[in-house]
Amino acid sequence: MPTRSMTVLLLAIACAGCGGDAEPEVVPADSALAEVAKENIEAHVRYLADDAREGRMAGQPGYDDAAAYMAEQFAELGLEPGGEDGWFQPVPLISYQLDEESTTLIAHRDGKDTRLQYKEHFTMGGDKVREENHVRAEVVYVGFGVHAPELGYSDYDGIDVSGKIVAMFGNSPGSFPHNERAFYASTRSKAEEAISRGAVGAIRLMSKRIEEYYPWERIKREAGTRPGMAWVTITGEAADYYPELQGSAMISVDVARDLFASTPISFDEAREATASSRPASTPLGFEVTLARKSKHEVITSPNVIGIVRGTDPDLADEYVVYSAHLDHNGVGAPVDGDDIYNGAYDNAMGSSLLIETARVFAASPPRRSVLFIAVTAEERGLLGSDYFAHYPTVPTEAMVANVNLDMPLFLFPLADIIAFGSEHSSLEATVEAAINAEGFALTPDPMPEENIFIRSDQYSFVRKGVPATFLVPGYTSTDPDVDGEAVVKAFRKLHYHQPSDDLSRPIDWDSAVRFTRANARIGYAIADDDARPTWNEGDFFGEMFAK
Ligand SMILES: [Zn+2]
Repeated sequence: MPTRSMTVLLLAIACAGCGGDAEPEVVPADSALAEVAKENIEAHVRYLADDAREGRMAGQPGYDDAAAYMAEQFAELGLEPGGEDGWFQPVPLISYQLDEESTTLIAHRDGKDTRLQYKEHFTMGGDKVREENHVRAEVVYVGFGVHAPELGYSDYDGIDVSGKIVAMFGNSPGSFPHNERAFYASTRSKAEEAISRGAVGAIRLMSKRIEEYYPWERIKREAGTRPGMAWVTITGEAADYYPELQGSAMISVDVARDLFASTPISFDEAREATASSRPASTPLGFEVTLARKSKHEVITSPNVIGIVRGTDPDLADEYVVYSAHLDHNGVGAPVDGDDIYNGAYDNAMGSSLLIETARVFAASPPRRSVLFIAVTAEERGLLGSDYFAHYPTVPTEAMVANVNLDMPLFLFPLADIIAFGSEHSSLEATVEAAINAEGFALTPDPMPEENIFIRSDQYSFVRKGVPATFLVPGYTSTDPDVDGEAVVKAFRKLHYHQPSDDLSRPIDWDSAVRFTRANARIGYAIADDDARPTWNEGDFFGEMFAK
């Protein structure tokens, strides 16, 4: 039975091509899709995740090699260069590093000063711009630090944080619809809310879930091992910089228990309140001093961009944008003697699928154009995609949709796929048809607490009003003996952002090939459709960003 996307393809071909009414036996796009090959994807993954790439840290030679490889592949496939400088869009970045010797956190209570120890008790990042920060202020506990009156929730009702340091948990209430939850969980949303109320610093508290996935031992081990980064605007400013916040730190559970001991709420009560989506904000009645020094360096790291030109003169100036981040976490703290964070799944795999998808489209171009972008510095905060969204090489209005690829896990024979973001726009039906055509079921997000919708590059496009989707494999296997949820959770706990996300991870290639085809079918359906995708009427993200 033909799916919707196949019908669209057949109609498009029938109208554009022959002029007769006989439907062609084989649709060109279909034969191109049939060419998706394990061998190609595997060769790309092997190159990108090789130890010689040294974990593809933005600004480092290993990343530059990977970028040159992407450009070579795009050139061989006959794509048009789509950057500012041929294939490349150089992204200017401030790379900043904390001076670990200078880190200071002092608690001032009951006339007594307690100096806490960096790594043992707290960690902090550097300041994006200033060389030195110092702030002393009262601490106010503000739950998640979320103000969402339209969802009937506020951590700030009746709470004054002007001139204060806010102490908050990550994430946002589990009672929220899941993508609204993701929006409010973002560091940006929280920082903007706190600043608008006059806060001067922030302390991050550890939830039970974070404690489980990132035990303090791991946080300690990784603290200070990688630079922070910010992209630089054309006027020379650091993007997403909040100078009002003079200091920030994350404290261990033991320190939090101790600091909350003589306050109106115990740390465990605070954790319970957030776990049940209940505001319980309160001044804590003590002060802290936060201080640090930071060093800065200006670097550049390129996005790599290629274009398959559309065949319909009326639509070829519009673009479906496929994205995947090419960077990973570089060389860092060793685990079992291995210090290279190869990022084989995250995101050598997505980048490899991007190349194979470009090959399919180059062999059989659709009506609209298709832009392929390998972005830099995703791991440093979605920086390459955000830069492209602010300084696009094609007009923003010309981008009809974004389809992102990030860490597709093929750890077992897959039965289902999750499509982040598609339920907000007309993409939902398109995506479901594409997935079904490859024998996968579409399932709802089984891990809303991970806020994945805001955590990869599609969100940079969403924030510019471009409807987006991002497919990741679900928890179900076609093999009844596989507990998919347990396998995925074990990967996230043991290998995600660890040196062991390398070429030794298992890969179910049949799933990888079908997933690639499903992801390509989405692009064909969008690029060949007469109408461009639209946000759903009254949608939260559409209203927020597309108006
Ligand atoms: Zn990733």
